[in-house]
Amino acid sequence: MNASTEPNFQASVRGMFDRAAHALGVPDDLVETIRECNSVIQLRFPVRLRGSYHTFCGWRAVHSEHRLPVKGGIRYAPQVDQQEVEALASLMTFKCALVDVPFGGAKGGLAIRPGDYNEEELERITRRFTQELADRGYISPSRDVPAPDMGTGAREMAWMADEYRKLYPSDIDAIACVTGKPVTQGGIPGRTEATGRGVQYVVSEFFRHPDDVAMAGLDGGLEGKRMIVQGFGNVGFNAAKFFVEEEGVRLVGVIEYDGALLSDDGLDPEALAEHRARTGGMKGFPGAHFVEDGASALEAECDILVPAALESQITAANAARIQAKLIVEAANGPVTLEADRQLLARGRVVLPDILVNAGGVTVSYFEWVKNVSHMRFGRLSRQLEIQRGLRIVKMIETASGRQVPDELKAPLLRGTDELDLVESGLEGVMRDGYGAIRERMRETEAIDDLRSAAFAVGLEKVALSYQQMGLA
Ligand code: NAD
Repeated sequence: MNASTEPNFQASVRGMFDRAAHALGVPDDLVETIRECNSVIQLRFPVRLRGSYHTFCGWRAVHSEHRLPVKGGIRYAPQVDQQEVEALASLMTFKCALVDVPFGGAKGGLAIRPGDYNEEELERITRRFTQELADRGYISPSRDVPAPDMGTGAREMAWMADEYRKLYPSDIDAIACVTGKPVTQGGIPGRTEATGRGVQYVVSEFFRHPDDVAMAGLDGGLEGKRMIVQGFGNVGFNAAKFFVEEEGVRLVGVIEYDGALLSDDGLDPEALAEHRARTGGMKGFPGAHFVEDGASALEAECDILVPAALESQITAANAARIQAKLIVEAANGPVTLEADRQLLARGRVVLPDILVNAGGVTVSYFEWVKNVSHMRFGRLSRQLEIQRGLRIVKMIETASGRQVPDELKAPLLRGTDELDLVESGLEGVMRDGYGAIRERMRETEAIDDLRSAAFAVGLEKVALSYQQMGLA
């Protein structure tokens, strides 16, 4: 099979789901119920721009409402279509279930190249898209809560929240209709970096288990490992930054749609982001070798490959040439079903998307809870913690007759702020998530890969919920 004869993204995700369902022995009728999206809407709407009407096409798919609200990003990209949105919605269901975020799965998309429009135009398009979604019940704090994805960010979420609030001024929870908002507009600190942070926590947890590291044909810790990242946007940039600055990883390659940069000495993510913002591209970054055919760099020599751009990047056409021993799916669906089979057969380890990039929805959950509770996390307890810290310091100083050094005292007297809570909550979720899937792989004889294990953990929870609700 070559890439052109491979099934599309949705068929690939179905195949991965079926593999896990089969291994678990889930009855066929239940498999059918759970696998497909419950509803999907296609929207065509006009926006008057530059003196004429421009028609836009978008989708919102709801995969499962076994938990409400349903949750999933909104993607702005020219190649968005219905099958892609449906596949992404189904991944959201299993992702949320796997990491115990009590949401159903959904996803939205608008077929648009954001770079073709200025900020004012994008705002008008986004506000109109929000009206169309709201009109049909596909955005609401209690039913369906979008978030950022490829091509969207905090700015678009702020526009959507504002438009929704205008439409429903008496809804006291209106601000919870989307997550990923700017912190000053009801967002939560750490959401922008959350997906990249989550990628870091999962990989660091993987390296805490020498057996798992050996399974990939690697040894030692994360420090000094050679990494290539594809996609230098929100997820790719933040993950690369945390790996380099906090884990001592050597970033030997970054791949973008306009080419790749390779450097044996390692790339500095901040400097590269600054170069890209200033020049508009990757080319010309000092000390690195530029490769015009960016995708070819997926096959370059490295220990860890982190696809963080879009789906179907490692396919039947290039899987046999991938040299990385560990593939970390920061994007959704970057490895096709056939490529996954080939990588497994070659002894490569794939850390699956539904765990690896679950940090985004996890912190979105924290934001939504903060919004509906109308209070910042830690607000009630911070002063109390500071007073307790002060008392502990006094006790130690009185008992020992010596002063506690400032660097030991400072953290105790600072109190816990919202970002500390978000990051520690996220770290716990991601490390537990990895623990759950490695345990499942070891426990279930018919499962011998981490992706099937991840689907199995999520699927079991969704199936139980359907059975207990009496729908199956
Ligand atoms: P983004 O738009 O911020 O960044 C995507 C980057 O990939 C951009 O820099 C873009 O130029 C680059 N890119 C696009 N096509 C490419 C190609 N063919 N080759 C190389 N690079 C290419 O998007 P993001 O939010 O970082 O999302 C990236 C992936 O992570 C998507 O699959 C998304 O679904 C997934 N994801 C994102 C979040 C989140 O919180 N943003 C959460 C979970 C999963």
